[in-house]
Amino acid sequence: MPSNDPGKNAAPPLPDPLRIPVADSHTHLDMQSGTVEEALAKAASVGVTTVVQVGCDLKGSRWAAETAAAYDAVHATVALHPNEAPRIVHGDPDGWSRQGARGPGGDAALDEALAEIDRLAALPHVKGVGETGLDHFRTGPEGKEAQERSFRAHIEIAKRHGKTLVIHDRDAHADVLRVLKEEGAPERTVFHCYSGDAEMAEICAGAGYYMSFAGNVTFKNAQNLRDALAVAPPELVLVETDAPFLTPVPYRGRPNAPYLVPVTVRAMAAVRGVDEDTLAAALGANTARAFGYPQA
Ligand SMILES: [Zn+2]
Ligand SMILES: [Zn+2]
Repeated sequence: MPSNDPGKNAAPPLPDPLRIPVADSHTHLDMQSGTVEEALAKAASVGVTTVVQVGCDLKGSRWAAETAAAYDAVHATVALHPNEAPRIVHGDPDGWSRQGARGPGGDAALDEALAEIDRLAALPHVKGVGETGLDHFRTGPEGKEAQERSFRAHIEIAKRHGKTLVIHDRDAHADVLRVLKEEGAPERTVFHCYSGDAEMAEICAGAGYYMSFAGNVTFKNAQNLRDALAVAPPELVLVETDAPFLTPVPYRGRPNAPYLVPVTVRAMAAVRGVDEDTLAAALGANTARAFGYPQA
């Protein structure tokens, strides 16, 4: 039944500001309502002074690169999302909106799209290559080959340009770790929206992979994420929104945006048993190191 309660879809209120500035290590401003200026101003007003804008397809990756060139507070990453690669091979129209004409499809279409990602990855405001990786939840067996080929290509691009690799891993932990090992991970690798358990966190820690926690770390059923966060080395922990998705409790289901990072930071501080300032200082420094930009 449709709800008439305006509160259900309304933007959550501004949280109390953080005293120590942090970065949203993974957001999709192009999928959120309002302008980039509004989003950055709102975020900065609560201590979220930097965002990493993540590309998921060609259109979004070009936009991310342009936006990072236009705003000091924005850094970009570029990629074909793990669910996008099989669609390109299939000939689906470009972009998550699926508007426009059908593409030619086939392996050549994927190669052409990867060549464009390669060109974008060379730009100075582009700090990372991603989100790439594997998604066994949304992509079925028919798309697995294209997805893994795309993942391997993104790893190679990241290494050749000396950029950070941003991993999307959904229900694919073992395969993601296997491919990273086979290809050799870049110097800096971030597991975005970290979704493994404490055991996997030890493996990531051993390999020096960053683990970025999103709003779902606050979800009631996400004890495995809190267990992972509790054992992750402090110098490898990041925070992100993945906005407009994964809005933290108590606003779950409402639109997410970078200004809600403080809600997740406070929940993370409680899990780790540290004060908010200590965690925020680490998060700010870690994100700058992870993406290779100077800390403001
Ligand atoms: Zn993702
Ligand atoms: Zn994302």
